Amino acid sequence: MTSVVERLHGPDPVFSVEFFPPRDEADEQRLWLAIRQLEGLEPAFMSVTYGAGGSSRDRTIRTTGRVVQETSLLPMAHLTAVDHSVAELRNVIGWYAAVGVRNILAVRGDPPGDPNGEWIRHPQGLTYAEELVALVKQLGDFCVGVAAFPYGHPRSTDLDSDTENLVRKFRAGAGFAIAQLFFEAEDFLRLRDRLAKRGCDAPLLPGILPLTTVRTLRKTVELSGAPVPPSLARRLDPLVDDPKAFRAEGIDIVTELAQRLIDEGVPGVHFYTFNMSKATTEVVERLGLHRPAHDRSAG
Ligand SMILES: Cc1cc2nc3c(=O)[nH]c(=O)nc-3n(C[C@H](O)[C@H](O)[C@H](O)COP(=O)(O)OP(=O)(O)OC[C@H]3O[C@@H](n4cnc5c(N)ncnc54)[C@H](O)[C@@H]3O)c2cc1C
Repeated sequence: MTSVVERLHGPDPVFSVEFFPPRDEADEQRLWLAIRQLEGLEPAFMSVTYGAGGSSRDRTIRTTGRVVQETSLLPMAHLTAVDHSVAELRNVIGWYAAVGVRNILAVRGDPPGDPNGEWIRHPQGLTYAEELVALVKQLGDFCVGVAAFPYGHPRSTDLDSDTENLVRKFRAGAGFAIAQLFFEAEDFLRLRDRLAKRGCDAPLLPGILPLTTVRTLRKTVELSGAPVPPSLARRLDPLVDDPKAFRAEGIDIVTELAQRLIDEGVPGVHFYTFNMSKATTEVVERLGLHRPAHDRSAG
């Protein structure tokens, strides 16, 4: 099985898709419909996030295992250090290896309940994602990715130290990073420049959420930690009461953003799908990132 990093070093830009584990059976059916539909576009990899609680964590392991067994997709499992001792983390990593998952996104996670609350390390656990990267790398031949923050992580005091902390994760063995949501290409490119200045040229993927509704716009504000820039507000604000027009403009905006980043040489674009396929499919097809049907028939 190839690794995520190998797929990011191909000749053309690629795309990848992120899902979260299903909450119940109906959710599971919706998730698998989305996975199957996006599988047809041949993403470079797919990933499943890791939740805060036991059952959701089991569903992440089960879902990634099923992806290995039943699809042609390359899966990447997320893993966090929240409420885990090192022994438990070793177990989960062992499970991933046992079901054939060789790509792991190692993130620290947030305190359960209040994401901005104080981080309390498990007494036998880890403090930073850097340590989780090192642990996964120690335990086998894994390809490990990490999170990056164009505006700096919310807990960071300044961009320089935040970038230094990202570089530490690469030094600990990470092969690539995926960026948290951001609004403008320059925000992402400045992060890439900060890394390049420190001699770090590992693949950095922009994370993109299709802006289909006012809710997805709010989510982008919440997760990025940045307000909507005036240039975007001018395009979207007049459409908040017209869902169809808002969606069309939102899809245009993220397509333009992704195209600009592709022109700037990003190796791929990572889509936060929210377990839905339609909007991601539209953007991917408009960008020409999917593998056309005639290519597929050629093998
Ligand atoms: C692409 C992506 C996927 C994600 N997937 C998940 C998921 O599946 N499940 C989930 O719960 N959460 C997920 N998250 C959220 C993530 O867990 C939180 O944003 C978390 O707060 C930070 O994780 P991290 O891995 O960046 O932490 P870290 O890299 O450990 O950083 C945390 C803070 O500590 C600082 N820091 C790091 N190393 C050091 C050091 N050595 N010394 C001093 N300070 C340091 C950093 O600058 C930062 O402020 C994801 C985020 C992204 C961008």
